[in-house]
Amino acid sequence: MRSGPSHLFPIVLAGPSGGGKTTVRQELLKRHADLLFSVSATTRRPRLDEHDGRDYRFLGREAFEDLIKSGDLLEWAEVHGELYGTPHANLRRARDEGANLLLDIDVQGAKQLRAVEPDAVTIFLLPPDFRRLVERLRGRGSENEEAFRTRMRTASSELSEIERFDFAVVNDDLDDTVRAVEAILSAERHRVKRLSPDVKDRVRFLGESLNRMLAASVEQEARSE
Ligand code: 5GP
Repeated sequence: MRSGPSHLFPIVLAGPSGGGKTTVRQELLKRHADLLFSVSATTRRPRLDEHDGRDYRFLGREAFEDLIKSGDLLEWAEVHGELYGTPHANLRRARDEGANLLLDIDVQGAKQLRAVEPDAVTIFLLPPDFRRLVERLRGRGSENEEAFRTRMRTASSELSEIERFDFAVVNDDLDDTVRAVEAILSAERHRVKRLSPDVKDRVRFLGESLNRMLAASVEQEARSE
């Protein structure tokens, strides 16, 4: 089900792995209680510091495929041989809680999400330079050269998708990147098409009050003539 423009739009952080999405996302969540992290489902195994339900919902392949079959996923994609997907329930929960859902997903997922949720705001995070991109790609469980090549291939094809995004931020310095994302969110929240019900009520109240005052003024003038 598509929803119209809302101040509770989902925010997508995408871009090549190695662009620093996780760190940026964690910092945003630390600073903004009105953002809700979208915990994805995945078939990949947990890393040492990861917890089920906090970082991901870690599922077996069969359980993940059941989610696909039952239409429970807003989007899903295969990344480096593992399945990743966003449950519909995440977006519903964010809206119920009056929060913006923050998604850290890959470029294919961002494309699907845009199709089902045109209201989403998509941000492409770019690695600061080639050296750091390669360092991060190497450091990501790239235990052998073939795995490393796969990550380079994926990153290269992801870069070519940048034009489809609303915004791009070069993740050179964490603070600057977070500030840039905050500026984007703030500007998006101020779009007239996204006015919150509170602001809409205020506009209505101001208009009605003015009209009442105008009518009273006209009436008074008529009486005094
Ligand atoms: P990692 O295994 O390093 O946590 O994530 C690998 C890639 O999968 C990252 O680019 C991450 O953003 C992406 N990813 C994480 N969750 C999802 C999801 O729900 N959907 C999609 N399409 N990609 C995801």
